[in-house]
Amino acid sequence: MAGGFRIFGRELARGRAASFLVQVSESYSAHPVRIPVTVVTGVRPGPVCFVTAAVHGDELNGVGAVRRLIAEAKTRRKELKGTLVCLPLVNVLGFHVHSRYLPDRRDLNREFPGNPEGPMSARVAHAVWSKILRHCDFGLDLHTAAQGQCNLPHVRADLRVPVLRRMAAAFGCEMIYDDPGRRGSLRRCATEHGIPAMLLEAGGALEYREAMIEHGFRGCLGALGALGMLDEPARHADFQVVVRKADWVRASRGGMVELKVAPGDLIRRGELLYVTTNPFGREVARLKAPYDGLVVSTFTVPMVRPGSAICHVVPLTKVQFERAVRRRKQVHP
Ligand SMILES: [Zn+2]
Repeated sequence: MAGGFRIFGRELARGRAASFLVQVSESYSAHPVRIPVTVVTGVRPGPVCFVTAAVHGDELNGVGAVRRLIAEAKTRRKELKGTLVCLPLVNVLGFHVHSRYLPDRRDLNREFPGNPEGPMSARVAHAVWSKILRHCDFGLDLHTAAQGQCNLPHVRADLRVPVLRRMAAAFGCEMIYDDPGRRGSLRRCATEHGIPAMLLEAGGALEYREAMIEHGFRGCLGALGALGMLDEPARHADFQVVVRKADWVRASRGGMVELKVAPGDLIRRGELLYVTTNPFGREVARLKAPYDGLVVSTFTVPMVRPGSAICHVVPLTKVQFERAVRRRKQVHP
């Protein structure tokens, strides 16, 4: 039917939803490896936006957000302009074994757009890219921190692209990283191919946490609102800062670390970040914040060696810091 969305050799009429299993590889037992894809077409015409989760197979909060988004889009098909292409489990092989990686130990998010003649991971990337993602106009890619770390919800996008500036702001996170992404990442590949895509980081691997799932879901609605696909206002954030770089605070000594901060904390210069002790309980190191900032990520495993990442603190200017403190007090008195 004219005006719908053509995918997998089928024309999906406007105002419909359909789910597919799309082959991306084969198993040792010669069975197809397939990933779930749900396409929801709005009654009204508009762009095509993909929403991906679990590109790293152990990152589950995004899976919950995409599933919620599928249910929401189905109920709002009359309002939806354009088409949503939802991939809740991109790296299904990693998902099966609680792993970030594919079975060839490579990171799928370094392989896009892939290579049909390359190693397994490159072939999987090629299948996902060529069969699904390259047919879209925009993209949202949902992640969490790697195992052993936890992230405050924040978004990453190449803010040189005007539509990504709008989508990123509308997602409702306090922190926006202006960053094009690593070579081979889904988001950078898509953006370089004229499919502006942004990324959410929320929570940690192997967790399925309500607050993070809801944040991802609501943020996607805000971004789709910015694209004009849904009648949704931009999501509210207490404050928003754009950063280009943030450094990990790393351990100077080995031992057990007692962390004094958590993701989302606003910390002042001189505040205690952590104390490290040896097996006798004697203190061997402590560190105070070298600048005012926002804690974006922390480790979750309390054993460290020299150089281990402990927390990720984004420096804020005095004006940004005081505004952030004021806004937090107004919203959460
Ligand atoms: Zn990830």
